[in-house]
Amino acid sequence: MPQIIPFAKVPIGENERKYIKEVLDSGWLTTAGKTLEFEKSFAEYIGARYACAVNSCTAALHLGLDALGVRPGDKVFVPSMTFTATAEVIRYLQADPVFLDTEYRSNLITPEILEEAISRHPDVRYLIVVHYGGQAVDLAAIQVLCQKHGIKILEDAAHAFPAKREGKMVGAMGEVCCFSFYANKTITTGEGGMLTTGDEEIYKRVKTMRLHGINRDIWDRFTAQKPSWEYDVVEAGYKYNMPDLAAAIGLGQLEQAEQFRSERQRVAEFYYDHLSDIPCLDLPLLHVHPNDHAWHLFPVVLNKLSPISRNDCMDRLAEAGIGTSVHYKPLHQMTYYKERYKLKPEDFPNAERTWHGNFSLPIYPSLTNKELRHISEALHQILT
Ligand SMILES: *Cc1c(COP(=O)(O)O)cnc(C)c1O
Repeated sequence: MPQIIPFAKVPIGENERKYIKEVLDSGWLTTAGKTLEFEKSFAEYIGARYACAVNSCTAALHLGLDALGVRPGDKVFVPSMTFTATAEVIRYLQADPVFLDTEYRSNLITPEILEEAISRHPDVRYLIVVHYGGQAVDLAAIQVLCQKHGIKILEDAAHAFPAKREGKMVGAMGEVCCFSFYANKTITTGEGGMLTTGDEEIYKRVKTMRLHGINRDIWDRFTAQKPSWEYDVVEAGYKYNMPDLAAAIGLGQLEQAEQFRSERQRVAEFYYDHLSDIPCLDLPLLHVHPNDHAWHLFPVVLNKLSPISRNDCMDRLAEAGIGTSVHYKPLHQMTYYKERYKLKPEDFPNAERTWHGNFSLPIYPSLTNKELRHISEALHQILT
């Protein structure tokens, strides 16, 4: 029988089932104790003062931009090489994205790229950085630049839990950081997200906007000493709260986060050891120690030497039973952004070079060495 190696596989432990049962037995399925517990554990894990659970990373990004003060007509720097959620939230607030190129092979925004962009667009006051693939950007250097130019930073850490840079956890370094617990991310709640911040005002604003603009946690009245029905509405907020059923899964996943991460690191190290002899295959560039990388993705790029196209290579791998994906088709190539902002490919030389040949290899804890050898052999057969 041919081996089938899917692109992604969700690892689920025993405690997820146990905590879900506790929620079901409690009779309270939406936001309450389990969500509070998940927020507290997550904040402790990261070393962040506040953590706010929401029902997606997209919601966290939206609330984060709002809390940073993005208003209609504002401009926000955002990398082109990301998922559309990173940029669409700018449009939710009727602000406009200004797309940036990223470094080849890391797909990160560098201080050099940013500095050049600031000189061309001195009116931009916000920046979203993406810790692409699970590798943190050089936030300290970027913060210095942004401070100088009055730019506020939002971190999209959808790929980057748990990750570090210079010994500091992603989520504890910046003003606002957003995580994803979507089904195929490094830990999952099915659908879910988390926003971390050290700023009390931002935390308050996010908590209010997360639940209809209500000025208190609505579930307080069921847990408070003195139950009270009364609340005030101070804004037209959103419905972005995380249900306890999801938080239950998150609590179980959080306990295993480092184990999952180190298994993915094993996979990445196998790929570096076994694929670096293929001249037409560019492997991801590392700026951090492998222990500090979340290893959400293992994106590779077929370069000019490749005997076949990216799509043909992915088809051949599929024939060998190996699932792959693409992260990403850059946003400057997507109809909505391309047409609305009249974007030109030549303004994104690194993203273009990447997009020409990029695809992502499977990377998840349960991949066996036998499966990894099969992937390596298939790639050697196709490309050498
Ligand atoms: C997955 C992802 C998101 C959105 O996460 P959701 O939890 O699905 O809303 C945002 N940014 C990036 C880079 C992602 O990969």
